Amino acid sequence: QFSGKTALVTGSTSGIGLGIAGALAARGANVLLNGFGDVDAALVLVRDAAADTGARVVHHGADMSKPADIEAMMRYADDVFDGVDILVNNAGIQHVAPVEEFLPERWDAVLAINLSSAFHTTRLALPRMRGKGWGRIVNVASVHGLVASAYKAAYVAAKHGLVGLTKVVALETARTNITCNAVCPGWVLTPLVQAQVEARALSGGLALDDARDALLAEKQPSGQFVTPEQLAELVCFLSSDAAAQVRGVAWTMDGAWTAQ
Ligand code: NAD
Repeated sequence: QFSGKTALVTGSTSGIGLGIAGALAARGANVLLNGFGDVDAALVLVRDAAADTGARVVHHGADMSKPADIEAMMRYADDVFDGVDILVNNAGIQHVAPVEEFLPERWDAVLAINLSSAFHTTRLALPRMRGKGWGRIVNVASVHGLVASAYKAAYVAAKHGLVGLTKVVALETARTNITCNAVCPGWVLTPLVQAQVEARALSGGLALDDARDALLAEKQPSGQFVTPEQLAELVCFLSSDAAAQVRGVAWTMDGAWTAQ
């Protein structure tokens, strides 16, 4: 489906991004992975997914909080693959604290990684997309791009901002074959959420299973986690030609979180 196309998935060495990268590779896209941690394991997994397609899978270690790193990664994509056709802005971090105790450095880091990085990749990817007359930009926002939770000031602000950026880019590309959309997951059990489960277990004196159930019960009516594989299918749909007129949306996959 995506053979001959190149996908960049930021923050794709773990969790949701890794799931999205695997699904795009399995459908034939060359994939540029990005992120920290166990890079080799991610490369093996996504190369396995690509095995029958002949697609290339490589990694660039740009720190998404650093515009100069992002510029270097986009130049790398231009040199190695002739640019990025499917851009998935997924890198993100969380920090939980009441607003008056929220460390300014943490605020800056969350805004840089969860919001500004998508501005930089988008501004740098668009000229080649326009030149080729095709492109897909999918921003991994969150239910927190639409509604708020206490103690997540930076995250909620950044994700609302990302939904706003999505709409602007959708308008500026509306007359082209380039689309820009956001996906808004509820709870997905990744390392980012596991840290919040562990914090809840610790503060409430709960077993991990009970802390996990309590986390879901509070916000997600389905009582079940969304999976990276399910989100990856949504991203593949938004990247498909069938979705050519889906533009500027913030598409939830949240077990009815935002239906309440
Ligand atoms: P994760 O912690 O499993 O993965 C985050 C990825 O981002 C990793 O690959 C990590 O190496 C990378 N990363 C972190 N900082 C980086 C930086 N400075 N430069 C480059 N890469 C960096 O988290 P996840 O849960 O898979 O989250 C992925 C995205 O999904 C985030 O944007 C997050 O906000 C969003 N999201 C997650 C959930 C959830 O419940 N897990 C819900 C809604 C939205």
